[in-house]
Amino acid sequence: MSNTSEKFIKAFTATTPKAECYFCNRVFISTNPDYFSYHEIDENRKLAQEHPDKYTVYEDNSLVHFFDFFGETVVIGCKCMADLKIELWIEQNKQKLLRYFGI
Ligand SMILES: [Zn+2]
Repeated sequence: MSNTSEKFIKAFTATTPKAECYFCNRVFISTNPDYFSYHEIDENRKLAQEHPDKYTVYEDNSLVHFFDFFGETVVIGCKCMADLKIELWIEQNKQKLLRYFGI
């Protein structure tokens, strides 16, 4: 499987400093100092070291891309691949969606 497309990310996502994936409960946290104190960043790094399958820290200061799906948070790039599955569903149902929207 490939990654979620840039087209999908551009159309559907927003960014946030921290998000939890609804589908698998993994937590993604930026190290951007505009949003967290250095103490918080260190604490988040410790969490990620102690629980690597639960917490992911973005060391490049980037923010977490996410989107809302039925009122729940889906994180782009999550290991559960919910983002990719949703994009694939949209692609597979493209003609039905176009018909639905009357396009
Ligand atoms: Zn997930």
